[in-house]
Amino acid sequence: MQNRVALVTGAATGIGEGIARLFASMGAKVILLDRDAAHNEATARSIDGARAVTVDVCDGEAVDTAVRNVGRVDVLVNNAGIFPRRKFIDMTEAEWDQMQNVNLKSMFHCIKAVAPGMIAQGSGKIVNISSVTFHLGTSELSHYVASKGGVIGLTRSLAREFGEHNVHVNCITPGAINTESEKNFVNDEAVRFMVSQQCLKRRIVPLDIARAALFLASDLSDGLTGQTLNVDGGWVMH
Ligand code: NDP
Repeated sequence: MQNRVALVTGAATGIGEGIARLFASMGAKVILLDRDAAHNEATARSIDGARAVTVDVCDGEAVDTAVRNVGRVDVLVNNAGIFPRRKFIDMTEAEWDQMQNVNLKSMFHCIKAVAPGMIAQGSGKIVNISSVTFHLGTSELSHYVASKGGVIGLTRSLAREFGEHNVHVNCITPGAINTESEKNFVNDEAVRFMVSQQCLKRRIVPLDIARAALFLASDLSDGLTGQTLNVDGGWVMH
């Protein structure tokens, strides 16, 4: 990863922050893209060689400008996402649209912005963050699960389109990951239940996802594209 330029979206906190920290520790020049300027800049200051860029990944023009300012990009990790629970029966069209915009259409914008450069340079690694909930079909998250299924579909199709240019597109489905945001989403009892379903009887943490992302972003995964790596402590086997 030495001197590779890696863009990580939603990197101010949680899984994205974990990915940014690990990539930087391996010598990458990491650019943290997040909409929360103060938080993002504070995180970037605590990572050697990292730079914060404030951008809402739903804003295609802003993403395009940000990427043009960065220049060469070797790695893109599409991680930014939201996960508010809502019963389908109570869900509004606006809530559905917001979920698709943040979790799926943002990847359209980010990949659109980096792909021409990667194709021109004849190399690139794109890592998309989906979710184990796609395999589980979790209830009260139909808008989320649909968006994360879309991420897997996008990964597969782009792997075929970009493969001849040596641009790799892969995906990770994290399980229940111990982040601050997760606490707004599941209570202690639910966490205990999820861990009981895993083969590994411990919390899976951002570093676990970061290690898988490092594999997919580095030369170690050069023979692999279009794949979905499930990192959930052995909860689901697919
Ligand atoms: P966090 O909420 O901890 O971090 C996500 C970051 O992305 C936040 O800083 C958030 O900013 C930012 N973000 C959200 N929307 C945008 C946007 N439109 N533009 C720019 N930045 C944005 O989430 P996690 O680290 O827990 O999750 C990261 C990813 O992993 C998500 O895609 C999630 O769906 C996926 N995932 C997480 C799991 C978990 O258990 N935690 C399990 C499976 C998948 P802000 O704080 O302002 O919202």
